[in-house]
Amino acid sequence: MTQWNDPSFPEIRASVRRLCQEFPGEYWQKLDRDRAYPGEFVRALTEGGFLSVLIPENYGGSGLGLEAATAILEEIQRSGCNGGACHAQMYTMGTVLKYGSEEQKQAYLPKVASGELRLQAFGVTEPTAGTDTTRIRTFARRDGDHYVVNGQKIWISRAEHSDLMVLLCRTVPREDCNKPSDGMSVLVVDMREAVGNGLTIRPIRTMLNHATTELFFDDLRVPAENLLGEEGQGFRYILSGMNAERILIAAECIGDGRFFVDRASAYARERNVFGRAIGANQSIQFPIARAHVEIEAASEMVRKAAVLFDKGHLGGTEANMAKLLASEASWHAADMCIQTHGGFGFAEEYDVERKFRETRLYQVAPISTNLILSHVATHALGLPKSF
Ligand SMILES: Cc1cc2nc3c(=O)[nH]c(=O)nc-3n(C[C@H](O)[C@H](O)[C@H](O)COP(=O)(O)OP(=O)(O)OC[C@H]3O[C@@H](n4cnc5c(N)ncnc54)[C@H](O)[C@@H]3O)c2cc1C
Repeated sequence: MTQWNDPSFPEIRASVRRLCQEFPGEYWQKLDRDRAYPGEFVRALTEGGFLSVLIPENYGGSGLGLEAATAILEEIQRSGCNGGACHAQMYTMGTVLKYGSEEQKQAYLPKVASGELRLQAFGVTEPTAGTDTTRIRTFARRDGDHYVVNGQKIWISRAEHSDLMVLLCRTVPREDCNKPSDGMSVLVVDMREAVGNGLTIRPIRTMLNHATTELFFDDLRVPAENLLGEEGQGFRYILSGMNAERILIAAECIGDGRFFVDRASAYARERNVFGRAIGANQSIQFPIARAHVEIEAASEMVRKAAVLFDKGHLGGTEANMAKLLASEASWHAADMCIQTHGGFGFAEEYDVERKFRETRLYQVAPISTNLILSHVATHALGLPKSF
């Protein structure tokens, strides 16, 4: 492995690496071919307590901060595994923890921590709204002690592998609100009861194995007691969870980037063409070195964002900047790694092409680069809003 200067959480990193050794490339290649879910891997992470690090100890977790969680996801990705199958179990519960009642926290968090309940699904995006979340149309109408939900969501990952979903919907039409971001609410949907009773899940086949789906709500009844926090405040609740999500996904990109640098360095040392290691050519070694430099720099931004988050100081800007830098650095590293491997970069058994496809996602989801730049321009730099 390439050396890098990162002393944080060495024990956690070492135990994640040990666990990941049990899930080598062949495991992921087969899942990728079958578009199957890595159930065994997720179970092992859950049993190892890695997915519950952010849950406070009094609810059965280990009560660590986001920085520890970034170390876990980074090591998963660096080992060639894919945390995308379960990373939401770490952060989706944050909405419950921050805005749920004590009763809701007691009902969900200890079971999420033990793995008895999978809280893996986060339902925000809709086909007609796109990134303009205030235009979502999925509507929850109050009917006695229930909400009746109608509408549609798209790109909701892991919905088929989750017992619970945190769902953002409108409870007041946009046109009746003072501000477009008012009138949205968050419900916890019990997928075990919902599927077949007003909720239909349709998987979407994508260029990577991400278990993502489309959801159709047709008079789905959700108990009113499943409302998180106050009705109408949902947008604010969801935004605060998104900062954690962006930082954790940025850490995954750092892990991916290190995977590519590790693999490219090893290959460039061993592959002999024209009678010498290809890595002896500066046109091969410089792009590897540049990728390493970019990953190291992005990693510092991820660390800064995580530390600020843990201190409770974080606005969205640092989380966004970390995600932008890390997703671009990992993508540059991916491209470099394919080029270094020549034809073998395209062979399934090298895992490089799979990782290349996987890491490409993170310039689009959970928030696309343009929207990050727009946030930085208007929030950090005071430039006029374009929308
Ligand atoms: C595999 C996968 C998994 C996902 N998982 C989830 C999930 O679990 N839960 C969930 O809720 N969502 C999920 N998403 C959705 C994801 O968050 C969105 O795809 C992403 O935020 C981009 O939104 P969009 O696709 O609607 O793009 P759009 O909003 O339609 O934008 C399309 C392009 O136009 C650009 N653009 C739009 N408006 C502007 C503007 N004003 N200025 C400049 N550029 C602009 C965008 O940057 C983007 O590049 C997932 C997506 C994918 C592909």
